[in-house]
Amino acid sequence: MEIIKPQTGRILNIAKGQLLKIIDLEGKQVADFWAFDSDNHSEFLSAGVTIDCNNKLLISTGDILYSNLYRPLFEITEDTTGLHDLIHPCCRKEMFEHFYSSGNHPSCLDNLNQELTAIGKSIETEINPFNIFMNTRILKNGKVTVEKPVTKPGDYIVLKPLIEHITVLIAACSVDSGNCNGGHCSSIGFEIM
Ligand SMILES: [Zn+2]
Repeated sequence: MEIIKPQTGRILNIAKGQLLKIIDLEGKQVADFWAFDSDNHSEFLSAGVTIDCNNKLLISTGDILYSNLYRPLFEITEDTTGLHDLIHPCCRKEMFEHFYSSGNHPSCLDNLNQELTAIGKSIETEINPFNIFMNTRILKNGKVTVEKPVTKPGDYIVLKPLIEHITVLIAACSVDSGNCNGGHCSSIGFEIM
């Protein structure tokens, strides 16, 4: 197993036939997950299309993650919690300024962009990821609240790629106050099987 340290990101390449297991090592830690076709960088994971094609906001085992071109990218083959988020963008400097009055803070957008520039790709101005283990509630009146993740140490999700070559970005989310990561940032583990 490899470790993504707290408040950092990682880029990796996987291929059809492999499986990607993402593990919440200590519990209550969100992993921002985004991906694009390694052979066509303009095709990428779309949280909005994933909601559209699954007809739901909560996806779990058996559900599919879709691209902006409405093509299946991954199937969720195992999921020990069933609570993940598809509506929040990656945390970013401006979000910390807005909610916490200081943007001088690590963020998932910066951490993932650092991984993208390391392979010569231009930065993304916004990333709408699949927020694995994030516990977002949508109330009847339309209000959205973020609750503490329900994950225990060792909870995991397994994703099966459905295209030949896919580049994956994962960040151990940097939000260290509020409920998002239970008020404490920890590591995320992953295994390519
Ligand atoms: Zn984050």
